[in-house]
Amino acid sequence: MNVLRLAIQKSGRLTDESLELMRECGIEFNKATGKLKSPAYNFPLEFLFLRDDDIPEYVADGVADVGIIGENVLAEEQHKIKDTVTIVERLGFSRCRLSIAVPKTFHYDDVQNLRGVRIATSFPTILGNFLREKGIQAEIHEISGSVEIAPSIGLAEAICDIVSSGSTLLSNGLVEVETIFKSEAVLIGRKLDAEKQHVLDDLCFRIQSVNRAKNNKYIILNARTENIAAITSLLPGIKSPTVTPLAETGWCAVHSVVRENQFWDIIEKLKAAGAEGILVIPIEKMIL
Ligand code: ATP
Ligand code: MG
Repeated sequence: MNVLRLAIQKSGRLTDESLELMRECGIEFNKATGKLKSPAYNFPLEFLFLRDDDIPEYVADGVADVGIIGENVLAEEQHKIKDTVTIVERLGFSRCRLSIAVPKTFHYDDVQNLRGVRIATSFPTILGNFLREKGIQAEIHEISGSVEIAPSIGLAEAICDIVSSGSTLLSNGLVEVETIFKSEAVLIGRKLDAEKQHVLDDLCFRIQSVNRAKNNKYIILNARTENIAAITSLLPGIKSPTVTPLAETGWCAVHSVVRENQFWDIIEKLKAAGAEGILVIPIEKMIL
């Protein structure tokens, strides 16, 4: 059997959620600290633990077959991998954005104010693309970490860095002025032989079932029979809601599946339509 080699960030923000996703996909393994490789016990997969910046190139070179990284890193390394590596699956975790930020005292109206400014960043390619598109000449100062302190130590007048909540910027007296890239974790891959592609398809099927389940909730509610039509019209279900009679005459139970992002909105409408005793249950896997 041809084993699929999956590169995962060795230790960093993506590591825990990447491994958790694999466990949710039913893949069993042991990650011993310090080890570069680990086999999965019950799936034809081998984990490679690497620095995230190296993963796109390793996938392009065939050292790994697939990898999990932030989309920002894929964009940043694009010039090294050309079109050999593509996004196989969006994973929905580690959502963040790459933004330009300036000190509170910097006068900023629009991107024109960045002309001639020194901008510190760990993402020179993405920043360079943005500035070129906008026709702005600025000086990109590449540093590998602690970008947010660059203005206060006189290294740059502005920064371009990863933001999720914005609290790091705030505590360094910086204001976010431009979002230049939106990112989430992605599974990347290259062209594979038929056997490995088959393993990857199986992995993707599992990932989709897990993520679909996370994005949906199973709900059960009770309602008077005369309200059932109004209630079911609010509920799509996978095909359509299940309606079963309760022991007490004139009452029914309704079972359905609701998308997480529509959930609170629908619950309000269900209550207004006469739903009672609403139970909300997480779904473990969802296969269509
Ligand atoms: P390595 O040592 O492997 O090079 P790193 O320091 O470059 O790690 P991390 O800080 O662990 O990278 O971040 C990995 C990825 O997680 C980033 O490329 C980005 O996609 C995402 N990320 C970074 N910061 C955040 C955040 N605050 N919130 C959500 N996602 C983030
Ligand atoms: Mg890195």
